[in-house]
Amino acid sequence: MSKPRVLVTGGAGYIGSMVTLLLTMSGYEVLVYDNLSTGNRWATLDSQLVVGDLLDVELLRATVKSFKPTAIFHFAASIEVGESIERPLKYYQNNTVNLIHMLSVADEEGIDRFVFSSTAAVYGAPETGVVSEDCQPAPINPYGSSKLMSERILADYAVSNPLFRYVALRYFNVAGADPEGRLGQAYRNPTHLITRALKTAKGEFEKLEIFGTDYPTPDGTCIRDYIHISDLANAHILALQYLDAGGKTLVSNCGYGRGYSVKEVIEEAKRVTGVDFPVLEKGRREGDPPELVASNERITRELKWTPAYDSLENIISSAWQWELTRRK
Ligand code: UDP
Repeated sequence: MSKPRVLVTGGAGYIGSMVTLLLTMSGYEVLVYDNLSTGNRWATLDSQLVVGDLLDVELLRATVKSFKPTAIFHFAASIEVGESIERPLKYYQNNTVNLIHMLSVADEEGIDRFVFSSTAAVYGAPETGVVSEDCQPAPINPYGSSKLMSERILADYAVSNPLFRYVALRYFNVAGADPEGRLGQAYRNPTHLITRALKTAKGEFEKLEIFGTDYPTPDGTCIRDYIHISDLANAHILALQYLDAGGKTLVSNCGYGRGYSVKEVIEEAKRVTGVDFPVLEKGRREGDPPELVASNERITRELKWTPAYDSLENIISSAWQWELTRRK
């Protein structure tokens, strides 16, 4: 019997490549569609790769027509809060308009299972730091808005097509690397806290800056829910199995339900690496909410998700191993 086929946009990126690997290991045949603007060819390992842009609807259509996937995983997106404030049009183009391209092709070709990468940034700066999916989304930066618009487009489209079902996972702060060392973060210009901290420990950056120490949190720095890439990737496999088994459309947080402050992350990064790297306290970075932690009741209940790497130490030590050994 032939394997079920999945098209993965953005499958050469950090999260998409890890999910591609897991899909392959779970018996799916994967085709990656990626423009390699931030992803890497090597990250697709043995999967088929079409180097293409989601703006190129002709190529996208031809790819889908010949590959004939039963499901689409849509990772391709821009993901930096700061950049989204400076370049909002890039975010609405890449994250929102390109989703419409993907959905239009899915519609034409009758593909009715879709897994979408959303983000905790749709919540904005919630009054209580722990957010459930019932909290009213209110993004405070173009990145969050572009993803929330995409969620609405998916919801509206699903109403128009009763066969179409999707899972949108709202990722909290994804970090860490494959425990077997095959894949990990490889952005050319990393901005995320754990990667910046480890690169500072490694000596690639002179110092780590803390963006804001006057937030209304116990130590004054922002609190986030950091989640290990392998647990996040596994949630995607469960999402597809759920859709394959006839599951209804689901919008769900994906996080551990526990937050750490920037200072706590830095302390742990120093402990794991054994390097007391220089840290400089700076002013706030625009667009950062003080606290963002997932309520994960829904994903636990609906997808039967059980995290296996749930600790800051697991996250940071796997990311550190990757930093020390990774492919450039
Ligand atoms: N942060 C920091 N220094 C850095 C990078 C990030 O203090 O070099 C802070 C950032 O302001 C936020 C938290 O770390 O409060 C997590 O930021 P990150 O960019 O990793 O993820 P985000 O929550 O923006 O998706």
